[in-house]
This record gives sequence, structure tokens and C-alpha cells, in this order.
Amino acid sequence: MLNLTRLRLDDATQLELTGWQAELDQIPTYDARRLATKREWRNKSSRDAMDPVRQALRDMCPGIERCMFCLDSAAHEIEHFRPKALFPSALFQWSNMFFICGACNREKLAKFKCLAADGTMHMATINLILGGQLSEDSLAVLLNPIDDNPENFLALDISGGTFRITPRVDLSNPNKQRAEETIKILALNSRDVLVKRRKTAYEDLRIWLRYVANRYQAADIGAVAEIRATLIANCNLFVWREMQRQQERIPDLQSLFQNLPAEVLRW
Ligand SMILES: [Zn+2]
Repeated sequence: MLNLTRLRLDDATQLELTGWQAELDQIPTYDARRLATKREWRNKSSRDAMDPVRQALRDMCPGIERCMFCLDSAAHEIEHFRPKALFPSALFQWSNMFFICGACNREKLAKFKCLAADGTMHMATINLILGGQLSEDSLAVLLNPIDDNPENFLALDISGGTFRITPRVDLSNPNKQRAEETIKILALNSRDVLVKRRKTAYEDLRIWLRYVANRYQAADIGAVAEIRATLIANCNLFVWREMQRQQERIPDLQSLFQNLPAEVLRW
């Protein structure tokens, strides 16, 4: 997971979403609103007005339509960060929409934990919301790629060679819990394919870096610009950011980066 920036929707699309949400909010009880979300989403999500929403989400992805959660697979589903079955007040909120892959969607489903006012962590349920222990605004445990900076919470184990994602060592609770839960909820380590592909991404990037160094030495600035654009569009950006961040501590990487201008550390 990386820190992403939310794009602004055009005024007409935003107005449409706000109107749909206002209609839903007028339904008098939480239970009735909650039961209406599936129908409302089915009716509205196929409308043309949703096309700019999908396009903006595609443009926000880390790389070409990469999943905003795992950064591995193609994103093709609108994900409600706060699940629609429990959070009717967020159904048409632009800030609640993400673009993710089917595998991440299946892992997350409606598993959504929140922090209560006393700092305890709970799986969000209808009863806890109706009983007032949680509210529709309770802080999410799952890291949000826009509102949280996941790079401050998650690290990649490069030096140990496992390519597992771990909580950053400087974290204390509740941030540590949020990092651990995010890894667990999205199965970022228990899906073998993700771990294997982070390792492959790392190995590919090392080869790219050797080639970049070669092109810098030849003063082939056109090729450097092309490689940079290709790399940013196609690599696993979490792996790349972690290589940049950790390079001073990993001799193999340090020697690679020493052959490159410092600007590569800001790519
Ligand atoms: Zn994914």
C-alpha cells in the first residue's frame, strides 16, 4: 500500500453523488438505510454519471490500473472502504471509493474493524453501531491509502529476503495494531503470489538500475527519461519506494545506488 492522492471530480459528477447520498440519508432509520444500499448501488452504479468516477479512480491508481491495496494485480472493481452493508452514510461519498483487484475485494469483504472511543478494536457490526459503541464515523483500523500514509506504517523485509510486509519498527499502538491488521485483513503475506511477485519486482528493479547506471554513464538522457517513465508506470511502486528508503542499510542496494545520481532516489 502506498500513499495516494485523491483527484477532484468534475462539479456535475460530484453533484450527482451528493444528490444520491442525500436521498439515501433521508430514509429515517439506520436499518432501513442499510437495507437500501445494495439496491441503490445496483441502480446507480451502472449509470453514465459513474463513468467519470471510474476514470478518476483509474487515474489515481499506483501504476497503470494497479490495485490500490496490493499494488500487484489489475484493479477493476470500485471498493467501498467502509462496507456498504454497514455504512449507508458513505455509499456515494467520493472519499469512500477506491479501485482494487478482485482478490483484495474477496479478502476484505465486509471485514471491517473500527476503534471505539475508548481505543478498543471491534469488528464493525450492525448491533455495535445500533448500540452506539461504534458509529458510522468511528476510526477505521484498516489503513486508508489516501487519509493515512501507509508508508509510515508498513515496511518490506528486503534485508531478511522474505519480502513479507511488516509493521514499521518505530510504531506503537494503535498504529502498530492498524499495520498488523491491515496486513492480516488483506492477506498481504498469506497470499503466496504477492510475496513471490514482490521478490521478482525487487530483482527486476535491480536489473533496471544497472541499466540506468549504464545509460547515465553514456550520457544517454533520452533513454534515462524513458526508463524512468516505464519503471514508474509498471513496477510495484511499494517495492521501489522501500528500495529507495532502505538502500543505505542494504549493501547490495547501496552499491547500486552509489553508481547513480542522487536524483534517482527521488524517482
Ligand atoms: Zn489487490
